[in-house]
Amino acid sequence: MSGGPTVGAILTLNAGSSSLKLAIFDLVASGALLPWRRGELRQDGAAQRFRLRDADGVTIVNEVWSEARFDASLGHLLARIDGELAGRRLIGIGHRVVHGGAGHRMPEEVTPELLALLGELAELAPLHVPHNLAPIREIALARPDMRQVVCFDTAFHRTIPTVATRFALPREFESRGIRRYGFHGLSYEYVARRLAVLSPRLYAGRVIAAHLGNGASLCALKGGESIDTTMGFTALDGLVMGTRCGALDPGALLHLMRWEGLSVDEAERLLYTRSGLLGLSGISNDMRVLLESGEPAAAEAVDVFIHRIVREAGALASILGGLDGLVFTAGIGENAPEIRARVCERLGWLGLRLDETANADGAEIISAPDSAVEVRVIATDEEAMIAEHVRDLPAA
Ligand code: ADP
Repeated sequence: MSGGPTVGAILTLNAGSSSLKLAIFDLVASGALLPWRRGELRQDGAAQRFRLRDADGVTIVNEVWSEARFDASLGHLLARIDGELAGRRLIGIGHRVVHGGAGHRMPEEVTPELLALLGELAELAPLHVPHNLAPIREIALARPDMRQVVCFDTAFHRTIPTVATRFALPREFESRGIRRYGFHGLSYEYVARRLAVLSPRLYAGRVIAAHLGNGASLCALKGGESIDTTMGFTALDGLVMGTRCGALDPGALLHLMRWEGLSVDEAERLLYTRSGLLGLSGISNDMRVLLESGEPAAAEAVDVFIHRIVREAGALASILGGLDGLVFTAGIGENAPEIRARVCERLGWLGLRLDETANADGAEIISAPDSAVEVRVIATDEEAMIAEHVRDLPAA
C-alpha cells in the first residue's frame, strides 16, 4: 500500500431521505486517504438494497435487507462495516449535515450538547437534517466512545460577504436566521482543493464551479473561496434541478397558497418533489432520459435548465468581475457533454471556446487552447472531503 502502513480507517456517512451513502477510507502513515469501500443503502420497494463496491468500483455486495427503512437497518449496517474493515481499526466516522445555520461554519466533533443544538437546527432544513442526524444519534448510543465528526454543507460558504447573504427583508429577520447560506459546500470545497493541485493559476483566480446533479447549483470561487452561490436559505433556490423548482418568484407561492388553497405541506411537496426537470417535462427527473426523449416537453425542460445556468453564470461572472475558469462537476456536469457544450456555447461572449473533441472525450480540460476561460471537468467526491475533515480536525 502506498504511503506506509495503515493508521486506521475512516467511515463517512451521508444519510438522505431515501438513501444512505457510505465510504471507508484507509488513513495511511503519510496522511493520505485511500478509498477502500464505497456503497449505499437505498429504499427498494418495502425493503432496503445494500450495495458495496471495492476500490476499483467493482460491486462486491448486492443484497436486499428486510428492514423497511434504512434507519432501522443501521445496526445491521454497522455490523457489516465491521466485517468489511478486515482487521482495520475504525478511528472516526464523518457525517454530512446539510444545514449548519449561522452558528456552525466548520466541521465539529459530535458531543451531546452539539447534538441537542443541531436538533434545533433541523427546523431550517426539515427534509434533510433529521435524516442526517438519525445515524449520528444511533451511533452515539450504540458506540459512545466512537469519534464522530459532522461536516456542514453550508460551511464552505462562510466566506460569502454579507451583502450577498442578506435578503432585502426587515433587519430583524436576519437575526432569526433568515438569510442566504448556500449548499453543496463539501462538493465545492473538494473541487477547490483539486483545483489547487491541478491548476494553481485557476485556483488563485476567478472561477465558476457548476455542481450539476440531481441537486444543482453554481458557486463563484475567488482565490479558492466561495464569494457567492445560487442556493440560498434552502437548497431550493437557484437553478432548475431534478425535482426542485429553483428560483421562483415568492409571489407565485403566495398566489398558489391563497388562490389555489395549497397547504404548506402541499406547497413543499410541489416545490421539492414535483417540479424541476420532472415537472417541466412531465416525463422524468433523469437528464439521460430527457436527452434521449423525442418529446417536445423533454427538450423544453432541458432548454430551461440550460437557460437558467447561463443566466446565473452571467450573474456570477459579474460578481467575480470576470472569469478565468469554469468547472463542471456532479452527475450531469461530469457525464453530459451535450449539456456542457450548450452552456459553453452560450457563454462564448466571455471569450470561452470549447474544444469539442476534448469535451466529447470527457477530457480534464475541455476548452480550446485560445479560450479566455479554461474549462475543466472535475469529478467531485463529497465522501473524500468528509474523510479529510475527520482526519484534519484536532481531537477534542
Ligand atoms: P445526486 O445529486 O443525487 O448526487 P448525481 O450527481 O449523481 O446526483 O447526478 C444525477 C444526475 O446525473 C441525473 O440527472 C442523471 O441523469 C445525470 N447523469 C448521470 N450520468 C449521465 C449521463 N451520462 N448523461 C447525462 N446525464 C447523466
